[in-house]
Amino acid sequence: MSNSTKSGLTRRGLLGGLGAGAGVMSLAALTPVQAALLPEPETSESYDLVVIGSGLAGCAAALEAALGGAKIVVLEKASQARMGGNSFLAGGSFSLPISDTAEAHAHYVEDYDKYTLGRGNTEIFALMAEHIHRDVAWLQENGIEVLPAVDRPPNRVSTATVAPGSFAGMPVLFRRMRARLEELGVKFAFDTKARQLIMDEAGAVVGVRAVGRQGVADYRGRSVVIATGGYAGNTQLLEAYSDPNAGALMVRGIKHATGDGLLMAQGAGAGLKGMGGLMALHIAAVDGVETAAGQPAAVVPYAVSINREGRRFVDESLGYVSHGKAVLNQPGQMTTLVFDQSIRDSVAEGVISTFNRLGLTVHQADTLEELAGIVGLPAEQFAQTVEAFNAAVDNGAAPGANPPKRTLASRIETAPFYAFSPLVPGITLTFGGIMINESAQALEADGRVIPGLFAAGEGAGAVFFQDYIGGGSMTNCLVMGRIAGREAAA
Ligand SMILES: Cc1cc2nc3c(=O)[nH]c(=O)nc-3n(C[C@H](O)[C@H](O)[C@H](O)COP(=O)(O)OP(=O)(O)OC[C@H]3O[C@@H](n4cnc5c(N)ncnc54)[C@H](O)[C@@H]3O)c2cc1C
Repeated sequence: MSNSTKSGLTRRGLLGGLGAGAGVMSLAALTPVQAALLPEPETSESYDLVVIGSGLAGCAAALEAALGGAKIVVLEKASQARMGGNSFLAGGSFSLPISDTAEAHAHYVEDYDKYTLGRGNTEIFALMAEHIHRDVAWLQENGIEVLPAVDRPPNRVSTATVAPGSFAGMPVLFRRMRARLEELGVKFAFDTKARQLIMDEAGAVVGVRAVGRQGVADYRGRSVVIATGGYAGNTQLLEAYSDPNAGALMVRGIKHATGDGLLMAQGAGAGLKGMGGLMALHIAAVDGVETAAGQPAAVVPYAVSINREGRRFVDESLGYVSHGKAVLNQPGQMTTLVFDQSIRDSVAEGVISTFNRLGLTVHQADTLEELAGIVGLPAEQFAQTVEAFNAAVDNGAAPGANPPKRTLASRIETAPFYAFSPLVPGITLTFGGIMINESAQALEADGRVIPGLFAAGEGAGAVFFQDYIGGGSMTNCLVMGRIAGREAAA
């Protein structure tokens, strides 16, 4: 796509209206407010494509474009040692349709639609379904090993994790990814924070003004891909958009996920979507110290979750995000996830070995009373709750339990008994972001394309809403990152 014009341009008048009017290369190249803040730098480098952010979406965009022969720079505000953003910290699971058939694609999209209350981005779910099997194979062709997919009932979705396994694979992915990108001639500028998009007089984005160790520099390109992740580290955005108290929530990932790309895109006229309320946050109940890997998501749907008063409070089978949000409303905002040996044998072994590797305690006792004592819950109420739940289990569900459990219910009866406790809510990712179309082009609020500007990953597309099925964000980053790289370099 050419940078110069796409729709006979309309933004020219807008910029004029805002008071610009000087020469193309200097002040008028930026919005007036931006131009007032950073001086015109002496250093300016030229590329085909400038990618902002070295996480999964940014790397996928850069790799796709580099394989097509484009000259690329990746700007990353963190140091070299902290390449990869939240993607580096991730469990490393991609969600996939359970097979690569039209029927399985449709089921995948339906399940994501259901989880996101019909307010997620169905067009992007469809792209994820269509591309992810091929895109995982593409990672493998580029030297990144991914383990075979495992089905994740009750959803019609499977997950495939980067080798060697959960919370161990992403550092390996980034080592290989960086080597592969450098082999293809991609330049990385670490410790370099993108501060402003540069626009030409036609309103197209033609580069990025950034601040690095050497001071201010311009990185010019025919296109720019914003892949700066989410805004869980930006207290001001959380308080303004999500909830006045959201700034106090624990953040599981990097604290420098401050929504810079969203704000830069907004400065260039892009619309934002899906930012309002706690519906825009992914919250999971996790260990309070090891907030990243100390999370038992795979066990939640099968276990019983019990609050400080000794009572259940949520249908655990709805998944770990519904569960995490429900914990927000519990006394002390904490919970204890209880399961028995049968559940351990069927689904919990992987999580237990991660907890062991991290040195986190997995509580264990021969009786439920003893377990209640160890984790500090009122023993009598705890026993009553488990007893009532067990009595309500019927054929894999517990419709008569309080609250009911619609599926994946099994009696907690086979000693020894286990608990992850205490678990507290933390923000995993943010759902709101830059409006984009199916080609990952950034859009103004009225749907107009902003020439030269693309966005992908957590901070683009408002892909999810309220809830999400695990592995969806990495799938979105890979699929939309590749699309952004291909379209931006075209
Ligand atoms: C602990 C944890 C576990 C997770 N596990 C999973 C999982 O298993 N599966 C799943 O689907 N999702 C998971 N997620 C969510 C998922 O990891 C993220 O949504 C996804 O990795 C975001 O990727 P991204 O490329 O959009 O952004 P990121 O990976 O966050 O990368 C953005 C990069 O942009 C850089 N940047 C930001 N602003 C600027 C700027 N102004 N200039 C230059 N650089 C900038 C940042 O420093 C960062 O390196 C997890 C999240 C967390 C926190």
